[in-house]
Amino acid sequence: MSRINYPNRVKIAAIPTPIDRLSHWSRELGVDLYIKRDDMTGSDLSGNKGRKLEFHFAEAQARGCNVVVTCGGAQSNHARATAIAARRLGMDAVLILRSRTTPPGGEPINGNLFLDQLVGARIVWVTPDEYRARDAVFERVGAELRAAGRTPYLMPEGGSDEVGAWGYVAAVEEIAAQEREMGVQFDAIVHAVGSGGTTAGLVLGTKLVGVGAEVRGFAVCDDTAYFVDRVTAIVDRTIDRYQLRIPFASKELRVDDRYKGIGYALSLPAERALVRQVAETDGIILDPVYTGKAFFGMVDLMRADRLSFGRRVLFVHTGGIFGLMAAASEAMQ
Ligand SMILES: *Cc1c(COP(=O)(O)O)cnc(C)c1O
Repeated sequence: MSRINYPNRVKIAAIPTPIDRLSHWSRELGVDLYIKRDDMTGSDLSGNKGRKLEFHFAEAQARGCNVVVTCGGAQSNHARATAIAARRLGMDAVLILRSRTTPPGGEPINGNLFLDQLVGARIVWVTPDEYRARDAVFERVGAELRAAGRTPYLMPEGGSDEVGAWGYVAAVEEIAAQEREMGVQFDAIVHAVGSGGTTAGLVLGTKLVGVGAEVRGFAVCDDTAYFVDRVTAIVDRTIDRYQLRIPFASKELRVDDRYKGIGYALSLPAERALVRQVAETDGIILDPVYTGKAFFGMVDLMRADRLSFGRRVLFVHTGGIFGLMAAASEAMQ
């Protein structure tokens, strides 16, 4: 039984997910490298968002909401997971998606976007500028839904807030149990950082569970200062709202911004080559937007200094397979 006092939760993700040893890369890098298969949280729900959504949807149900509103890029993994989970729980989803086309909404219907449409999510296309000022869009959509007699639940980008953070607190507890089973203690938990909720949950989790591993993130956009602020805000709000008695200082956070490459959802040939290599050597399918960049950064630092992350390293595979499929025709060639 858990000593941690979790908020309400509904079952959405297929968890626990396995931890596998990456034998090729362990040999190549001279460390013990493991992978937490959070790409296996569900074939359609694949990725880290399913863990967070267990807590969001519990809160949405407790408040009597019947439609969830969230946002992301056109190929958002979070939007797709939300749209599918909503249907499974008998709810509707409205997705505010950032378009790269003029006028907005000319994106090819593939990958995540195809699944959004398949489950009949309503999509509100916005320009990058409108997306930056999306609070106004959330307000407008929320007001429209209320006027139509619906009860909306508004969820931020990536589900990254004090509710979603619990998903990765629970993941750390799962990892701790697997460490005991496997007789291993990880020195570091390495992962990709996109909107900060996973990092916030991992940091809170290591403190609440009492796990010694250092949480090491790789930014896939923005920069370290931005994510330190953002993760700190989520951690502080979680501590406040749930009255957690744990110490936290932003200077503990380690988010490396040197491997975001040429920008969000854009990849360099070397990053693509590594995604291909990991697929060939270990049969693990990374994605170009998140996990490919984080894995690239981790390998690069280990090549310069083998023990950059300690001897026993856990890489969290946060998913992204549908983004890879969408990129298959362009970025991966
Ligand atoms: C959203 C996402 C991340 C980043 O997680 P955040 O909690 O948003 O920082 C990493 N990998 C994949 C595949 C994602 O979809």
